[in-house]
Amino acid sequence: MEKFQTVCPYCGTGCNIDLFVENNKIVKAEPTEKHPINDGELCLKGMYGWEYVHSPRRLTKPLIRKKEGVFSKDGKLEEVSWDEALDFAASRMKRVVAEHSPNHIMGFSSARCLNEDNYIFQKLFRVQGSNNVDHCARL
Ligand code: SF4
Repeated sequence: MEKFQTVCPYCGTGCNIDLFVENNKIVKAEPTEKHPINDGELCLKGMYGWEYVHSPRRLTKPLIRKKEGVFSKDGKLEEVSWDEALDFAASRMKRVVAEHSPNHIMGFSSARCLNEDNYIFQKLFRVQGSNNVDHCARL
């Protein structure tokens, strides 16, 4: 079993965790001893919230709802390439801004992202004229 020291992604406290990995799977987590932030302590999320990592239901590829090959709210989710997913999202956002206003788009980010990721994310919306940016610290 290998041990990897990392930072808990659940909230901004930044507790350090030792993840124990066997056969490429996380089998347990323990608090990093003598770390200046959490010194041997973890809350329940940090200690036990790792099963999702290996869940077969976890989304790992982009999906678009399609009917007869094109987007449809009534369609079925189809796996697409990242290029197609990003082009689709960009074109829909541009259309909403052009047909309505920048105030009709909003971005909802994650407290699990790095500060740098969240900075770039809010820029994406502000350069389009929208200040509608938020995140969920409990994602
Ligand atoms: S262990 Fe709990 S308090 Fe520490 S970073 Fe993770 S979620 Fe936050």
